[in-house]
Amino acid sequence: MRIDGHTLVLGLIGDPVEHTLSPVIHNTLAECLDTDSAYLPFHVRQEGTDLEDAVRGACALGITGLNVTVPHKSAVMRCLQAVDPAAARIGAVNTLVRTEGGFIGYNTDIAGLGRDLTEHGEDPAGRNVLLIGAGGAARAAGCLCGERGAERLWILNRSAQRAGQLADHLREVYPDMETAVISDSAEDAAGLPGDCLAIQCTSAGMSPDTERVPFREEAFYDHIRFAYDLIYNPAETAFLKNCRLRGIPTANGLGMLLYQAAAAYSLWMESTGRDVPVDENAIRTAAAALREQVYGKEAVRIMLIGFMGSGKTSVGRALSGQLGCALKDMDSMIADRAGKSIRQIFDEEGEQHFRDLETGLLEELAAGSAAGTEVISAGGGIILRKANRLLLPECGVSVWLKVSAAEAAGRLAGDETRPLLAGAGKEDRIRRLLTEREALYREAADVVIDTDGKDPETIAREITGILRLKGED
Ligand code: NDP
Repeated sequence: MRIDGHTLVLGLIGDPVEHTLSPVIHNTLAECLDTDSAYLPFHVRQEGTDLEDAVRGACALGITGLNVTVPHKSAVMRCLQAVDPAAARIGAVNTLVRTEGGFIGYNTDIAGLGRDLTEHGEDPAGRNVLLIGAGGAARAAGCLCGERGAERLWILNRSAQRAGQLADHLREVYPDMETAVISDSAEDAAGLPGDCLAIQCTSAGMSPDTERVPFREEAFYDHIRFAYDLIYNPAETAFLKNCRLRGIPTANGLGMLLYQAAAAYSLWMESTGRDVPVDENAIRTAAAALREQVYGKEAVRIMLIGFMGSGKTSVGRALSGQLGCALKDMDSMIADRAGKSIRQIFDEEGEQHFRDLETGLLEELAAGSAAGTEVISAGGGIILRKANRLLLPECGVSVWLKVSAAEAAGRLAGDETRPLLAGAGKEDRIRRLLTEREALYREAADVVIDTDGKDPETIAREITGILRLKGED
């Protein structure tokens, strides 16, 4: 990183700040986007006038933007020139953006949580939500539900008094959302509908106290359709594990942390007049750096998805060669287990049965972690089932090899083994199928790679670069 008089200074104020993950995210984004910014944590004590002095000093020093963390998220509001209305509704600010007259306060936690829920195919709009917790994070999550138009929201918290205060606030700001407080009891659990989106916002289960769950009454699990836990360390809390074992899809809060940071970074870049969209691949690179920082260097499983002719096999070979790891093919795994070829499975048991086997294999992959780094190439039609699209990113990093119809037709010229493309008008048929499937691939993908005009080795290097994986020396 080169630092000179043009470098934008960004940072975090909080107490404590020793264990913050924000520098990893923001400095990785800066590196990927080539934006010449540097992000540093600043320890600003809770006592005395430190906070006001710090904000005034940051302004005088020309600091472009700051994140704000505990315990200053509410107190900082009195030191600002203005507060964004959404942040005012939450009553907390986590991002400061410099203007001529002083800093303006925003709250990007809502955007971060909202985006990560969307990534998992969930949206509070029109939903029944079980909000677990009533602290600062629960307040942001409750406001997200109000902003998005959740139908009904139940607050379950250890302290009923605190739950009541949050409920009063949400009723006042979002009168259309029916908000109630419930207790940790079988009777109250029984009153919930069966399709709740559960958002766990307490610190119960956070490392090192990882066995703790936020409520005692097991009956609550029967009413959850999707479970989101804001905690990301450990990767799977006891609450999420209990959900998973009951077949409920789950997600942890690492994505929220990432996306609230990306939203803050966008605000800072906009404020400096730089037209630097924080693109998907920069976010994915920051996600990989963040995962490595939180969970250590893990074994990674890369799931390659894409249309016929997108290069899943050739890129898979190049990638496994560069990483020195195993390459597996889902169709071969299914055929080996069934003791017959895919064609025989289709002919004898039908496509539905094949798709069931495919979903079953994905469920197994999603439930276990990779033994070592591995590359798995999936069948072209795997994204047709909604369940598979949700499972793919859970299995590992799902990489969509994107190809245009013209390029796919060129690569498949002379290949007469694909029944879907048999006969004349191949390119038109590819174009139609691609148009039908593009949104489905996008939904299932963590990373998108444009493959047109590139050879497999180049594409494989692009993937290892984005995921920050090192090849074998
Ligand atoms: P607060 O201190 O404001 O609130 C803590 C909440 O946890 C309260 O509801 C409290 O209940 C509850 N709680 C604490 N201990 C227990 C326990 N043993 N059993 C049941 N409930 C308990 O913290 P925040 O709201 O700021 O943060 C909560 C969690 O969310 C933290 O783990 C934090 O790391 C995480 N978080 C994650 C973010 C992300 O980006 N992924 C962003 C922000 C927060 P009571 O009211 O009864 O005390």
